[in-house]
Amino acid sequence: MGQIPGNVQEILTRLEAAGHEAWCVGGAVRDLLLGREPGDWDVTTSAPPEAVLSLFAPRALPTGLQHGTVTVDHVEITTYRRDGNYLDNRHPDHVEFTSSLREDLARRDFTVNAIAMSLRGELMDPFGGRQDLERQVLRAVGNPEKRFQEDALRILRGLRFSARLGFVIEPDTAGALRRCAPLLERIAPERIQTELTGLLCGEAPGDILLDYPDVLGIFLPEILPCVGFDQRSPYHCYDVWEHTARAVDAAPVRSIVRYAMLFHDLGKPDTFFLGEDGRGHFYGHWRKSVEKASAVMKRLRFDNRSKHVILTLVERHDCELPLNERSVRRNLARYGEETLRLLLEVKRADNRAQAKDCQGRLELIDQWEALLDMTLAGDSCFSLRQLAVKGGDMTALGLRGPAVGQALEALLELVIDEKLPNDRNILLGYTKEKLL
Ligand code: ATP
Ligand code: MG
Repeated sequence: MGQIPGNVQEILTRLEAAGHEAWCVGGAVRDLLLGREPGDWDVTTSAPPEAVLSLFAPRALPTGLQHGTVTVDHVEITTYRRDGNYLDNRHPDHVEFTSSLREDLARRDFTVNAIAMSLRGELMDPFGGRQDLERQVLRAVGNPEKRFQEDALRILRGLRFSARLGFVIEPDTAGALRRCAPLLERIAPERIQTELTGLLCGEAPGDILLDYPDVLGIFLPEILPCVGFDQRSPYHCYDVWEHTARAVDAAPVRSIVRYAMLFHDLGKPDTFFLGEDGRGHFYGHWRKSVEKASAVMKRLRFDNRSKHVILTLVERHDCELPLNERSVRRNLARYGEETLRLLLEVKRADNRAQAKDCQGRLELIDQWEALLDMTLAGDSCFSLRQLAVKGGDMTALGLRGPAVGQALEALLELVIDEKLPNDRNILLGYTKEKLL
């Protein structure tokens, strides 16, 4: 088992020396007991926030005084508290400080998150969190239905923890989670996005996607037509939603790629067409998928950069990549190395989630990536930066305004297609002759 890091030990020591109780709590204790690398550390203490502030001045930052939280060296120190009434399915109307650690643990969401650990490694575990850790079970503290009604965000936190830890959600907790799911409509879209990203970037999001489409469908109604949608295709051994879930699992843990997998086939149900051969076809489904993905990301307030890359990946997930250098250069010019490598990951994940005998295409993707590496290592030209003529050369020849960029783009295309060499004099000559 790992240890409490030095800066956290110092915080606990100083609080205890001043006569207060102080414990580590939450995700860090959970992860430490699981033998995983803890993320951020949280401390809970009997000391009132003002006492914490003065004990750690000037390092202490009053980051959430109304909830009793003071931050020292990125460690959140929160005074034992009990929450007041929840009026909006998200926030308590007030919090009350208490001197009871047990009460503080009782307000926490899941048993595995409600274990406290002292400086000396003693555990306070009134809700059986350790047993649930051993059995790999996620269970709400107290009455699950009441806890999800108090704060509906806990529903999504539950799915996220289950995906991240690979834990089964205990049946009463799972039932309450489904029944309370409509309350998610009251949660801010930004918070939903954060939790969904955490869920998708877990180790086993696929099973959660498969088991809880009804819950996710509250804020992602676009997925519902995919559930159980038979593809009628020899390439697919799964329905659209199961394929999607398997493809998310098969993708590397990068939120952009995982979102691209979540969205890539959303357009299939709308574009289904049964051929005379009795097989299902989905011509141009990527276009519908892009439309739906775009609507989801707008609703959930994605930033523009992520949105742009994810849409490119969804749009191109099914594109042909001819195995030749010209295709590599063209794609490099259009998408850049970073997005192109992500696209290869998308294609791999998509392929791994298809019928077994279609997986020969994986080899083709590897070959294409090898060609990409070769092109990047060589001195071939695929961007304006590498072109042997610049904007200044074009203005010297008398071009002005947008004509400058247009001429450069035209030259780059000719060089990429090997119709002209990337040679300054030849490009200048060609410009004089053909582009003025
Ligand atoms: P992570 O590893 O993602 O940080 P975490 O369990 O530490 O997970 P945090 O959001 O950092 O989660 O919160 C720290 C602790 O505070 C939780 O472990 C839990 O005990 C409590 N907590 C956080 N949010 C809630 C909530 N919405 N309802 C009840 N308890 C919560
Ligand atoms: Mg945490």
